[in-house]
Amino acid sequence: MGDLQLDTPAQYVKGVGPARAEQLARLGIRTVEDLLLYFPRRFDLRRQTQPIDTLRGDEPSATVAGEVTEVSEQRYGKRPWFGCMISDETGWLLVKWFHGGYLRGKIREGMHIAVSGKVGTYREHLQMVNPNWQPVWDPDSANLDADELLPVYPAGADLTSGRIAQVIRRVLPDAERLIPEILPGDILQRRDLPGRPRAVAAMHRPEDTEQWDAARRRMAYEECFLMQLGIAMNRIRRVSRPAHALTRTDEIDRRIRARFGFELTGAQNRAVEDIAADVARERPMNRLLQGDVGAGKTVVALYAALLAVANRAQAAIMAPTEILAAQHYRNIQAYLQGSRVRTALLVGGQNPKQRTRLLDGLATGSIDIVVGTHALITEQVRFARLALVVVDEQHKFGVRQRTGIRSKGYAPHYLVMTATPIPRTLAITVFGDLDVSVIDELPPGRGETTTRCVSSDRMDEVLGFVRERLADGQQAYVICPLVQPSPQLQLKAVEEIGAELSDGALKDFTVAVVHGQMPPDRKEQVIAEFRAGRIDALVASVVVEVGMDIPAANVMVVLHAERFGLAQLHQLRGRIGRSEQDATCILVAEPGNPIAQRRLEVLTETHDGFTIAEEDLRIRGPGELFGTRQHGLPELKVADLIEDLDLLRDARRDAFALVRDDPSLSGPHHQTLREEMEKLYADRLDLIAGA
Ligand code: ADP
Ligand code: MG
Repeated sequence: MGDLQLDTPAQYVKGVGPARAEQLARLGIRTVEDLLLYFPRRFDLRRQTQPIDTLRGDEPSATVAGEVTEVSEQRYGKRPWFGCMISDETGWLLVKWFHGGYLRGKIREGMHIAVSGKVGTYREHLQMVNPNWQPVWDPDSANLDADELLPVYPAGADLTSGRIAQVIRRVLPDAERLIPEILPGDILQRRDLPGRPRAVAAMHRPEDTEQWDAARRRMAYEECFLMQLGIAMNRIRRVSRPAHALTRTDEIDRRIRARFGFELTGAQNRAVEDIAADVARERPMNRLLQGDVGAGKTVVALYAALLAVANRAQAAIMAPTEILAAQHYRNIQAYLQGSRVRTALLVGGQNPKQRTRLLDGLATGSIDIVVGTHALITEQVRFARLALVVVDEQHKFGVRQRTGIRSKGYAPHYLVMTATPIPRTLAITVFGDLDVSVIDELPPGRGETTTRCVSSDRMDEVLGFVRERLADGQQAYVICPLVQPSPQLQLKAVEEIGAELSDGALKDFTVAVVHGQMPPDRKEQVIAEFRAGRIDALVASVVVEVGMDIPAANVMVVLHAERFGLAQLHQLRGRIGRSEQDATCILVAEPGNPIAQRRLEVLTETHDGFTIAEEDLRIRGPGELFGTRQHGLPELKVADLIEDLDLLRDARRDAFALVRDDPSLSGPHHQTLREEMEKLYADRLDLIAGA
């Protein structure tokens, strides 16, 4: 076997047989390069170990390492424990973890582990209780002369971190020879980053934490840089398509504003200025309008639509559901009463004749503003002169859906509205192709919303409070997490809870039920009754989360609140507090779940969507929160979307500058960079920015 190359299959690495190769492949590791780029998740400091026979039995802290020669467990009783016996050449030691059931299967006979903790005795034997422990990846070097940084690799189902480390250590001596630099030298210098060959080696085996920090920063930067490069390249390609330039005169501005019965807030005005500046250009606007529910985004979007109409062009407004489309339509009609602007609502279930007339109107330009669901773009809808698309995504972002309207050959200006506060880091990664306007100020004259978090054994009190408010003429939401009864989780279905409340605690009031599985017209009907005040309490699944606007409803009880994400709860809570009246949101969580309780408390403390979103991101990770994978973005392995914000910003600035100078990366210094990009994104480029 000759020298290792980057593309040498992992199986040819010494000590890797077909079985190990297969285990590695399951982790996505196929080549030597994959091995070198498979980085430890963290390092544990391994303390200098001492031979077991040097222990006296009264050490406040000691570290020993050895083979697990026996495991045992006491599963029942007051203080269940999990234990094992560790042996080195000099003796053996009992180790016990109280409530250590989670270790079952993790610590097995034959493994080598190191344990660190207080040493005592039990029936005259040496014993360590509740120590820190970690697997030892190389038993031969277990007896350390000095403390050591121990890499912890993301393990597979059948491959421990230690085994992975063993394989990687075989290829590590070749790292500096094999790994090419891919970033331009001037960037490395400016950002003070180490070269790639050294960084890769140090990622696995740093001399000290400082060297590791530098290596990690370099690799995180590289990751962010490549991602932003992809976004930048796509963006350049897209904005090269022309759009209708929409001009705004003072007269137009005055006339649009006259449509609203109020002054725009400072934040709304800033967003309007951003938009007006964007659409005045002949290249498409691509802007995210972000703001809490009720902050007044729709008003800003309507301003933009009317600007299009004033320029004799059309605007399309798309909502995620029919209920929301209808609501937008109703609102818009109210604002436009007595104007000559022609509007239409396009949803399913309209009769064919009506529909044909609508489609004709759009194709000939006799309709100015159309409101509909996302189906607007997937169907055969033709526009005479479409200048603006507004997508109200609330919390359901869909890059793929955005792709649709562009692929029809239009180059409309494009405005996405979202009520989900997107952490800044995500705004420039997942939504890196969008400019962002934030409405961070509520319209005046809104009441306060108080949030309380209680445990479900106080449900009687909660319902007593609801009764009081209902008797006072207010309306309430009761939110349940699931529609289908789920015996395992013992969650009651919406229907069941509705029945229970209307026969029991709320029997003096009108209670109705609405959930996602109901036919749309039935749903619509219930919501209309609630809006009209004929229903006092609405027991609902999360369907109300998305944009329902009923100002008189000022009480919300969320059952099983621990099952919702924080951002989602924040979203839900935005349904109330939409009038001058004060509102109350009660989060009911199962008792005995202190972690959930603490998590929920964030909501009682703040209404700041960004704080909540960042907390959520911390807890759940970006993938789950936004489905980054669905967005076609490569996963970030090294960079941390919260901690590395500055790095990400730098990388974005550098990547965009580079693409401005060399849009196709064809310069001689950009060859390796280009190759790396293509490898990373393969055929995903189109998806990144929804081009
Ligand atoms: P969002 O779309 O952000 O949820 P909307 O645009 O629907 O918010 O506005 C929520 C409510 O606030 C609507 O009833 C709207 O008429 C009202 N509103 C919006 N902007 C203002 C303002 N500047 N002054 C007073 N009321 C406003
Ligand atoms: Mg809205």
